[in-house]
Amino acid sequence: MSNVSPKVVILGGGLTGISAALHLRRPWVLFEKETRLGGLVVTRERDGHFFDRTGHWLHLRDDGSKHLAAETLPGQMVEVERRARIFSHGATTLYPFQANLYGLPPEVVKECLLGVIEAKYGPGGPEPKNFEEYCLRHFGKGISKHFMIPYNERLWGVSPREITAAWCSRFVPLPNLEQVVAGAVGANAGTLGYNATFSYPKQGGIQTFSEALAARLDPTCVHTRASLDQLDYRRREVTVGGERLPYVAVVATLPLPELLRRMPGLPADIEQHASRLRCTTLRYLDLATRTRPLVDWHWVYVPEARFPFYRVGVYSNAAASMAPPGRGSFYVELADRGPVSETTVRASVHGLVAMGAIASPDDVLFADARAIEYAYVVFDDHYYAATRAIFAFLEAHGVFPRGRYGGWTYNAMEDALIAGREVAAAIDGGSLGDKP
Ligand SMILES: Cc1cc2nc3c(=O)[nH]c(=O)nc-3n(C[C@H](O)[C@H](O)[C@H](O)COP(=O)(O)OP(=O)(O)OC[C@H]3O[C@@H](n4cnc5c(N)ncnc54)[C@H](O)[C@@H]3O)c2cc1C
Repeated sequence: MSNVSPKVVILGGGLTGISAALHLRRPWVLFEKETRLGGLVVTRERDGHFFDRTGHWLHLRDDGSKHLAAETLPGQMVEVERRARIFSHGATTLYPFQANLYGLPPEVVKECLLGVIEAKYGPGGPEPKNFEEYCLRHFGKGISKHFMIPYNERLWGVSPREITAAWCSRFVPLPNLEQVVAGAVGANAGTLGYNATFSYPKQGGIQTFSEALAARLDPTCVHTRASLDQLDYRRREVTVGGERLPYVAVVATLPLPELLRRMPGLPADIEQHASRLRCTTLRYLDLATRTRPLVDWHWVYVPEARFPFYRVGVYSNAAASMAPPGRGSFYVELADRGPVSETTVRASVHGLVAMGAIASPDDVLFADARAIEYAYVVFDDHYYAATRAIFAFLEAHGVFPRGRYGGWTYNAMEDALIAGREVAAAIDGGSLGDKP
């Protein structure tokens, strides 16, 4: 491979890598370590039940990605109005919690409302430094105590005091006082937040989408079972499967620590920043029921520590094809990050019964424990300095880290598609990498 002319090298064939390849006009080659493209956008089948890597609902806001989705799977997607709920204090309420207090016990509603008023009209204080302070400042004590702090602690796997406030403006909807009051008396009109609707393939789970996108690529440029061995930034070469290949630019979508580990001779300060990158693993269950779910929601947030899970979803409530007729396919995201024990599985099944999602533990056909090693990047105090320094170093050597784990961020499938498109345009236009 060392005699070939340098190309754009794409490392990783998740949505970011696929999108970069689809949009690039300059010659490219893509290396993916797994046997197929798609990354996290993959669906597993067992006994006619289909499971994504927990809920992968496609929220499309950008015209370019709407167009891409429509031309990739014409007529094969359904547009679904989200049914997201919260389960707390024995009640199922609408999402988001802060704008839909109606249905909770009156003393909880009162505590939450007083907290919002105090936060809005109280003495204020210094700028919030971490996520917990951000919640107390914007939502007040009640909403923070009953939802924001416990839920986020369970989701991120670290204390909200360890997370900076900066990431949440897009993902945590901030209602105004009128919306909070209206939501408390059940008079909130419309849905709040970034994901009021989503698209989803009619058949085959979310993998249908990544597969159809990948099918549009020139297969001669795609190499699966091809893991990056080494990236020599001084010589501008990658080594894959023992073969060396020069690059004009690298779009690196594999997890950032995995990339840096494969780059020998990093400067000491970059090594130090790399050692500070943090990410949490997610454990979850693919759970099948022999009966139809008793609930109609697509997913539910569960802040209370008495449940082993913090979020549960029902694929078959979004697309009936995700389970055989009369049955259900669930995902159950566990708060504990350690290996999944039988006790946790049993407690999860009992939790589903307690929430009214299934009638009895006997309804469960199987519950398979699964893990996502890189799931949530932790936005702690080191995050911004570390990523700034690492990205500047990599970009100076023609390596462009992009996507959820390459770009070391929190993003959704649409962001991955956009990141791939934008990096391709910049490389083609000569503003990134060697000039064409
Ligand atoms: C629990 C969870 C739930 C989510 N829910 C949603 C949702 O509901 N809606 C939504 O829009 N988004 C959701 N997302 C986000 C979505 O999964 C990501 O935004 C998107 O899949 C990121 O794509 P990517 O290509 O950047 O990364 P990835 O999909 O991780 O792709 C990276 C690729 O790099 C490959 N790779 C790794 N190491 C190497 C190596 N050494 N050499 C070569 N290749 C390598 C991997 O195999 C992988 O294919 C969720 C994510 C998680 C974790």
